[in-house]
Amino acid sequence: MTDCIFCKIIAKQIPAERVYEDDKVVVFKDIHPKARVHLLVIPTQHIQSLAHTSETEATLLAHMLLTVANIAKEQGLNNGFRTLINTGVAGGQEVDHLHFHLLGGGPAAKT
Ligand code: AMP
Ligand code: ZN
Repeated sequence: MTDCIFCKIIAKQIPAERVYEDDKVVVFKDIHPKARVHLLVIPTQHIQSLAHTSETEATLLAHMLLTVANIAKEQGLNNGFRTLINTGVAGGQEVDHLHFHLLGGGPAAKT
């Protein structure tokens, strides 16, 4: 998707503070953090939203969730963290490339 901002981050056409990447996912800092730790976990493959997934993406979705858990541990979020997935217009999704928010480490984590 040429006009997708997250695809551009994956392609390194626009900068982002990456904290992790592998062949399936990239994890980077949210540009407007709502908590001390606010990261976005995105698939390297363009998928519009959670509503655009099916059994075909089951392994990828599991990998994204396991990445959230691993990165949360790496970030020292030992008392817990919040994982948020906004889906579609009514779900408050602003960027149409699937992403999991990982929030923790501060009182604003419930935002
Ligand atoms: P959502 O409302 O779930 O679609 O969230 C999109 C998130 O992407 C918001 O929290 C934005 O702050 C974040 N965001 C948008 N553009 C960028 C960017 N270039 N780099 C990092 N985070 C971004
Ligand atoms: Zn994309």
